[in-house]
Amino acid sequence: NVIVVGSANLDLVVATPRLPSPGETVLGGDFRTVPGGKGANQAVAAARAGAACAFVGAVGGDDFGRLLRDSLVAAGVDVRGLRTADGPSGVALITVDAAAENCIVVAPGANATLTVLDPADRAAIAAADVLLLQLEIPLTAVAEAAGAARDAGTTVVLNAAPAAQLPPDLLALIDVLVVNEHEAAVVAGRTGAGTGPDGLLDALLELVPRVVLTLGARGAAYGDRDGLRVRVPAPVIDAVDTTAAGDAFTGAMAVAWAEHGLTQPGAAPGDAVTTALRWACAAGAACAQHPGASVALPDRHRIDRLFAA
Ligand code: ADP
Repeated sequence: NVIVVGSANLDLVVATPRLPSPGETVLGGDFRTVPGGKGANQAVAAARAGAACAFVGAVGGDDFGRLLRDSLVAAGVDVRGLRTADGPSGVALITVDAAAENCIVVAPGANATLTVLDPADRAAIAAADVLLLQLEIPLTAVAEAAGAARDAGTTVVLNAAPAAQLPPDLLALIDVLVVNEHEAAVVAGRTGAGTGPDGLLDALLELVPRVVLTLGARGAAYGDRDGLRVRVPAPVIDAVDTTAAGDAFTGAMAVAWAEHGLTQPGAAPGDAVTTALRWACAAGAACAQHPGASVALPDRHRIDRLFAA
């Protein structure tokens, strides 16, 4: 089973022909609200992928908070660790233009109140196979959760998104880092010249023992300190909307990691890593086949179908 400690935001989305300039008003299309936040998305992704999944996070005591809670419950996520904080829920104000370029303002709201864990959260982390973390809640809670997992032998998977450099005491607690190429460059402190996937893996393996690098339509790559390198292609699809493809990939990867015994101590078998990565790529691609973010997160059946294709 998987536990996520992370963010929940309500995405407030309007499509416009073009993005407004400062001081300008543009007329948009219909307004949509979509449950989001990387933490909640990855919890829903893991639950739809077939795992028992719990979510520790915070929403506000407003209508948005009730909506976010309901959407997690509807996906089958265990929300006993979801707090209702005073004040507003986290929201993302999103405008998208005709070329799919977007402009986003995030108000963290209740997510910012998640600074410490309680004993029940630590017990839930200890009972899980995989703890899945992102960087949209206070770093104190991320580090505390990772520490609780390390004490209990629960595998720590960190998706370093949004991209940020990580303090050494947090790096020391990570078992598997999951990043796209942009995040990889930021975590490695190499935002300048082009380093290919292998260069990024080399740099990141100086910081953490295992790294998964997502490569969009080119699939994913893996490296670890035992010297294993794996490269898998993504399924060939007609991409409609790649929003949340990374969340679909990461949630499914956490599930596959546990199912294929990769949370056990010792060197990772190459065939198990290959299968887990291919399956996670099928989840990312399945998400990209449909419009919308969290609403496009695929269930196990859709992942399996693309995996077998
Ligand atoms: P992020 O969305 O975090 O930037 P990526 O763009 O690397 O992450 O996408 C995550 C995963 O989703 C990829 O590893 C791949 O498996 C899948 N994916 C994304 N875009 C496509 C695409 N156009 N075709 C097929 N698979 C895709």
